[in-house]
Amino acid sequence: MRAIIIGGAIAGLSTAWWLRREGWETTVVERGPAPSPATGLAALDTPKAADGTLDRGYVIDYFGPGYDTLERMGLRERVHEYGLGLNALRYRRADGRHSARIDSSVPARVTGGRYLTLLRGDLEGVLREALGPEADVRYGTGIEEVHQDDEGVTAVLTDGATERADVLVGADGIHSRTRGLVFGPESRYRRYLGAHAAAYVFTDPELMAVLANEFQAVEAPGVQAGMYRLSDTAGAAFLCHLSPDGSLPQDPQARLREVHGDLGWLVPRLLAACPPRPYYDEVEQILMPGWSDGRVVLVGDACQAVSLMAGQGASMAVAAAEVLGRELGRVAGAGTGSGAGAGAAEEIAAALRRYEGRVKPVIDAKQRAGRSLARWFVPATPARLFVRRQALRLSSTPLAERVMRPFLASPRDTPLEAPVDVARP
Ligand SMILES: Cc1cc2nc3c(=O)[nH]c(=O)nc-3n(C[C@H](O)[C@H](O)[C@H](O)COP(=O)(O)OP(=O)(O)OC[C@H]3O[C@@H](n4cnc5c(N)ncnc54)[C@H](O)[C@@H]3O)c2cc1C
Repeated sequence: MRAIIIGGAIAGLSTAWWLRREGWETTVVERGPAPSPATGLAALDTPKAADGTLDRGYVIDYFGPGYDTLERMGLRERVHEYGLGLNALRYRRADGRHSARIDSSVPARVTGGRYLTLLRGDLEGVLREALGPEADVRYGTGIEEVHQDDEGVTAVLTDGATERADVLVGADGIHSRTRGLVFGPESRYRRYLGAHAAAYVFTDPELMAVLANEFQAVEAPGVQAGMYRLSDTAGAAFLCHLSPDGSLPQDPQARLREVHGDLGWLVPRLLAACPPRPYYDEVEQILMPGWSDGRVVLVGDACQAVSLMAGQGASMAVAAAEVLGRELGRVAGAGTGSGAGAGAAEEIAAALRRYEGRVKPVIDAKQRAGRSLARWFVPATPARLFVRRQALRLSSTPLAERVMRPFLASPRDTPLEAPVDVARP
């Protein structure tokens, strides 16, 4: 059996890994020009996408179901090599005064150490490395057309190549072209959460000395700007502001300077280091009634984006890829080369239904939680900001840790949990 996977990042590479383990042939098609090297500070070395965007330059907190999946893939130690080892999350006021601090040992303690903070590009690099050099991963090409018939699915790529497979997996992110081609326009599925977010990696040794090993953020009603220390010279910026208008600005760098320019403390310096094309996007969720159509299935942000407000998007993408890979692995003849044809169609459809049935309820709940937390992520008013500061101050207490535990620790009783009858690698 053969799968073509559109999108060679977190969800796509993980899906390829699990499918190959189940005996499938895979071809991964990635629009970006090259893999993220798993060498730490990957974002600094990663070639820019065709539009000049350095879209891998942000830091993620990684925990929960996807952490368990990485462990089952034998990648736990490897991925921890890229952990940024931050000590705390510290909020400041515009004049630089400290307003709240969360000790990083809290999430680590709550999850029993099953938590890390790393560059998204490094996670991608580790996944690419795990897939091995022999895996077919094609960079610099994308999906142009998808055609299905009784025997299989055909993808026409932007470089003119045509690929035939039993299943096509759309793992091409929140603005998925696969979804657009097969399920219809993004506007049908998008839930805008009222904010814009931006991120970039920059070099500024003096700023790094001030940051020490902390994520430090300055906040005001409706706007916040934060920075991480990545090394003695490099850092990562993360900025977020409320924006009732969901449309993206022509010039993101100018918009960031306009909206965040008055935040004070070291933010003007952070903005001075902003590249012309930082990562900049609306904060949104993707809500779909179903994740597959015939032999085409979506995974990761393409169908299940939970948003920054909910967190764990990368973790959920990796976990979902495991379920998808394992369920397709149960299709008869999974290890017998391509072209099982019409006979396999029903089994494939059933596998895709099982995948969705196991993952979607977990995602639905996470998305609901994300929507209800949205107003606390970037508080709109001084009163809400005050309440959030108090909550953050209390977050290191034993009671708060108990409240946090269900959100941070891996749920042991959800359908995402790996079936017990499948041997671990
Ligand atoms: C600022 C920010 C902070 C975040 N923080 C966290 C966090 O703390 N924890 C967490 O778990 N998650 C976090 N996330 C979410 C997480 O990054 C995503 O959920 C995760 O990257 C989704 O993985 P994916 O593979 O589905 O999509 P993506 O990572 O978006 O990858 C999609 C891939 O498809 C490729 N592609 C796109 N279109 C095409 C095409 N037409 N043809 C071929 N290839 C294509 C893209 O180049 C890309 O490589 C954060 C996201 C952002 C933006």
